[in-house]
Amino acid sequence: MVDSNYILRFLSENLMKVSKPARYIGGEYNSVVKDLANKDYLRIAFSFPDVYEVGMSHYGLEILYWLANNLDFVYAERVFLPWVDMVEMMEKNDIPLFTLESKTPVYKLDVLGISLEYELSYTNVLKLLELSRIPLRARERNDNHPIVIAGGPVTYNCEPIAEAFDVIYLGDGEVNLEKMLRVIYETKGMNREERLKLLSKIEGIYIPLFYEQEGRKIIPKYDFAPSKIRRNILKDLNSVKPPVKKILPHVESVHDRGVIEISRGCTRGCRFCHAGYVYRPVRERDADQIVESVKELISNTGYDEISLLSLSSLDHSQIEKIVDKLMEELKDKKISISIPSTRMDAFNIKIAERISQVRKTGLTFAPEA
Ligand code: SF4
Repeated sequence: MVDSNYILRFLSENLMKVSKPARYIGGEYNSVVKDLANKDYLRIAFSFPDVYEVGMSHYGLEILYWLANNLDFVYAERVFLPWVDMVEMMEKNDIPLFTLESKTPVYKLDVLGISLEYELSYTNVLKLLELSRIPLRARERNDNHPIVIAGGPVTYNCEPIAEAFDVIYLGDGEVNLEKMLRVIYETKGMNREERLKLLSKIEGIYIPLFYEQEGRKIIPKYDFAPSKIRRNILKDLNSVKPPVKKILPHVESVHDRGVIEISRGCTRGCRFCHAGYVYRPVRERDADQIVESVKELISNTGYDEISLLSLSSLDHSQIEKIVDKLMEELKDKKISISIPSTRMDAFNIKIAERISQVRKTGLTFAPEA
């Protein structure tokens, strides 16, 4: 029988034969471990369909992991796509994809949540399902399979891959994540279609199985399925605290630094920009909450670089105040601030001078914006 012990044995025998073995061991500082012996949790694997060091840089996954694990009935773990040498090793040894935290096979969980950030990851999604031993199409799954959920910006145009998902969640996760997980938890053991029917009543949830194509339109097959699905919009960014316990990756991740999201949405409406449209409207986090969160993040992680995340960070209406307050706090501790994305014409020499007081970090310009 494939269980956590079986997978641990496989890892101890094979880890040193693959590149970057630390990608697969879990146990990182700040990762969440819950006692599975004494509680019947809703078991979730959140996944970014790419390798560990890419997935661990994804801020959306960090938000979901933090929100879900703060719910007392949920245990959320992570799973990423193994590198090709590990895929080969797993297939040779008949090992299914497993979670990093408890080494549980993904097919044994209640939910698999996959972040869709770009269309090029679609083939990885299929590989992830195949390695997890979950049928690729929602219609081929039975009551015992995990409910496979997609979220993220690509879900706004998800039809090319919609049949791979039982549930597609549109919009900001903070709004209806808890409601959705509670329905899944409370309907454990029920017929899959009945559960999906209940989920379809939640705002922002699209159940592809309940729809069909008519010409260029997607229309409901059943009366109970809503004909229009509106995305969830978190009206006030300050109403949900940002994650301040970032998991410290074992392998250097693509963006290896602390991150606090300072605003969501963008003041500009560049016609070519997907993010500029799907994250509308602009919502800012207050300067005080940003400063407090940065302090907590530093004390929980020890990072010496903090990134102020936004689609265009220097467009935040309080950016000078935020940078001033942070530099006051961080300068003597040699902790620097970086601005991950900004428009050229929003560039502000005063801010550039202030953030370079510790060391030269970075301002990333988006010249096309
Ligand atoms: S400024 Fe950048 S993020 Fe904003 S809409 Fe334009 S390209 Fe998109």
